[in-house]
Amino acid sequence: MAGSDAALAAASLGVAVDLYEMRPHTMTPAHHTGKFAELVCSNSFGGEGETNAKGLLQAELLAAGGLVMSAAQACRVPAGGALAVDREAFSERVTETLMQHPNITVYRQELTRIPAGVVVLASGPLTSDALAQEIQRTVGMEFLGFYDAAAPVIDVDSIDQRIAYRKGRYEQGADYLNLPFHKEDYERFYEALTAARRHLPHDWERLEFFEGCIPIEELARRGYDTPRFGPLKPVGLEHPETGERYFAVAQLRQEDARGRLWSLVGFQTGLKWGDQLAVLRLIPGLAKVEVVRYGVMHRNTYLNAPKLLSPTMQLRDHSQLFVAGVLAGTEGYLESAATGWLAGTNAARQLLGLPLAVPPETSMLGGLVRFLATANPDNFQPMNANWGLVPASPKERHIGKAEQRRRLYARGLADLARWLVEELSVNYRSPSAKPCPERSACTEPAK
Ligand SMILES: Cc1cc2nc3c(=O)[nH]c(=O)nc-3n(C[C@H](O)[C@H](O)[C@H](O)COP(=O)(O)OP(=O)(O)OC[C@H]3O[C@@H](n4cnc5c(N)ncnc54)[C@H](O)[C@@H]3O)c2cc1C
Repeated sequence: MAGSDAALAAASLGVAVDLYEMRPHTMTPAHHTGKFAELVCSNSFGGEGETNAKGLLQAELLAAGGLVMSAAQACRVPAGGALAVDREAFSERVTETLMQHPNITVYRQELTRIPAGVVVLASGPLTSDALAQEIQRTVGMEFLGFYDAAAPVIDVDSIDQRIAYRKGRYEQGADYLNLPFHKEDYERFYEALTAARRHLPHDWERLEFFEGCIPIEELARRGYDTPRFGPLKPVGLEHPETGERYFAVAQLRQEDARGRLWSLVGFQTGLKWGDQLAVLRLIPGLAKVEVVRYGVMHRNTYLNAPKLLSPTMQLRDHSQLFVAGVLAGTEGYLESAATGWLAGTNAARQLLGLPLAVPPETSMLGGLVRFLATANPDNFQPMNANWGLVPASPKERHIGKAEQRRRLYARGLADLARWLVEELSVNYRSPSAKPCPERSACTEPAK
């Protein structure tokens, strides 16, 4: 994700880029293809709009001409207020754009040493062991590690449509498919879920979940009602025809443009596959479910950014090394892409003898990279876009939270746009790209 944006940002400035990707020859435990920017779990880039922190970062990246966001915008699928994509069309589009760029040479090989020269390290949460050791040797620090999990994806034909109903929470569109539990259904499901066997990672003693991606079995372990207050929350999901309220509701989100594949929202899991299937089949409407891709659990690798990084994404003690993505301490596809764009831009600027650039602190990207460079290094945890990263606007009475956020959004985007033009000489692009709903149309490389 980060490497894709970094490569295009640098290449667009006229710099020759060698792009190393070890897939498909050496796969990670989470990827399934050799494509760039493969989405390893959800197909969503988070909520959109002017009251959403991710929405601001999305708009900033579109304004900057970021590859991942431009491709996401072009390959979107319906997902209520979120930006979700047809994952295949999306990564195809990113891959073709990079493969066809005249300044980019792609090498399909695992790097075990950091090459000489100006380098952007963006090897992600599943950096191969040899490279991880090399980075560790270079920065002289211990990596921090934790685990998170991916949700199962299922075939739409195996969902009992007499039980499932379409509805968004609190009536927001009808993009989601809902599977309602009565109390006795939930009890059967809960019992099986807590009894199911988990896949234990090797160094499981250090098991620590990122709060945004906790496995469903871990939530169940925390208490009978915990899943019902989390991903199985029934609030706002009454049946649209009968008005019936349920004890719990599982939601399915569309994964591909044609609506063939659906994933269970918030259902990341590391259960063994046989047990996983048995548990899924206890969800009302999924008695005959066919799992297209099982949920899995994986290691996550990241540096202690506040000890090592400057907000230019450069390692403080190694001025030719830039770091981006999860490795740099960000969380999320969008944040990875954003830091990749900045690292690629600055790596190229260094080669061109230009001053390195840091986005304004009022922008979401500016707030994020400043956080990475200045956060408390004790127990440092990866960070995603949120309103706490940008300076608050002056308090005005009679202005609600939504309006305050709209103002932060407008301020951040305006400041970033000005910065792009004045400091980077980028032709500012209004953040609105036409979606291309048909997959075939999405395979054209981005302009
Ligand atoms: C299982 C899992 C589920 C996740 N789910 C979500 C989610 O739902 N939503 C979300 O926003 N974020 C999710 N994340 C977190 C994170 O946003 C994504 O992993 C994101 O893809 C990270 O971007 P990145 O560029 O840092 O790394 P990646 O996108 O993983 O890119 C790193 C690339 O480097 C390659 N590579 C690694 N080592 C080498 C080497 N030695 N030589 C050459 N190439 C190498 C890899 O093959 C990979 O293509 C998840 C992470 C994991 C592990």
